[in-house]
Amino acid sequence: PNINATLPTTTELASLIQPEPEPPRRANATFVFLCKNDELGKVLTSIQQMEDRFNKKYQYPWVLLNDKPFTKQFKKRVRAMTDAPIEFGVIKREHWIQPDWIDEDRALKGRIRLLSQGIIYAASIPYRNMCRFNSGFFFHHELLQPYRYYWRVEPGVKFFCDIDYDPFVYMEEHDKVYGFTLSLHEWEPTIRTLWDAVKEFTSANPQYLSANNSMEYLSDDGGNTYNLCHFWSNFEIADMDFWRGEAYQRFFDFLESKGGFYYERWGDAPVHSIAAALFARKDQVHFFRDIGYRHEPFQHCPSGDDWVKGRCACDPRDSFDYTGASCIRNYERMFKHAGVSAT
Ligand code: GDP
Ligand code: MN
Repeated sequence: PNINATLPTTTELASLIQPEPEPPRRANATFVFLCKNDELGKVLTSIQQMEDRFNKKYQYPWVLLNDKPFTKQFKKRVRAMTDAPIEFGVIKREHWIQPDWIDEDRALKGRIRLLSQGIIYAASIPYRNMCRFNSGFFFHHELLQPYRYYWRVEPGVKFFCDIDYDPFVYMEEHDKVYGFTLSLHEWEPTIRTLWDAVKEFTSANPQYLSANNSMEYLSDDGGNTYNLCHFWSNFEIADMDFWRGEAYQRFFDFLESKGGFYYERWGDAPVHSIAAALFARKDQVHFFRDIGYRHEPFQHCPSGDDWVKGRCACDPRDSFDYTGASCIRNYERMFKHAGVSAT
């Protein structure tokens, strides 16, 4: 036998001393999951799908937050869903509880009014705490201080498709601040005076308005009235440094001073959406049309190549985007007028 045949060739030897390929770029990012102990089952299915469709390859950390301590059982079962780092945090009182200066008589009247109008969560104080926390405080939580980008996840949501790229890196490389999958109209009675507050803030602080903002998405009359369009914030991939920045901080403080989180029921979805639309450029707000997602009772199912690439477990004909209640048309109209396609 020819002994040389078993020796490595020069090219084989050369390949041994080649530098390792660069590791894929990562972003400074985490999942953020606000939830309650009694939501365990739905917390597990959300995390399992995110891990299966995306994070098993990327290993981004999870941060779970709660206004009460998570139980041992809860933590044990959630930990079993992922190999990624996971932390459990408690929210401090000041970030959660209705502030003392809120006039409780007025707040009570507000709750009764919404109840009489048949509005969902009309009389719930915890729901209002949650909306205010998500609007103004989650990104100040100590467990989130190390991170810039986050992906918000809720109990019982569905992720339909494989995500074979890193949306956080996408955000960073394309200078995006806010990413969404569903866009719809808010219940008007919950935000009756929000737009007045927004107008008051922006006329006193015009320096915060982006020159290339998305007012056209929010208003059909040049900013006079709000058309109720917002990005559905149960799904968000966004930049916490935007929320931590001066424009948003002053905006939130102003809204907080109006008391509308308690006198009405201002949602974090319209609050985030209005800020992203006004204080960022329109090309910094991104529609993740390739990410299949459901939060009851609506879903976004990708179509065409996105559906094939993602092996999406949803019917592309069952997608909220172009139904009557959707605001995606407003979002796309804005880019058509600007002469570019939606980002
Ligand atoms: P919806 O999506 O608007 O119907 O409201 P959800 O009930 O899904 O609440 C939104 C998010 O806040 C979910 O992640 C919930 O788990 C969380 N959440 C709502 N209320 C509370 C609460 O009182 N305590 C905690 N820890 N989480 C809450
Ligand atoms: Mn929800």
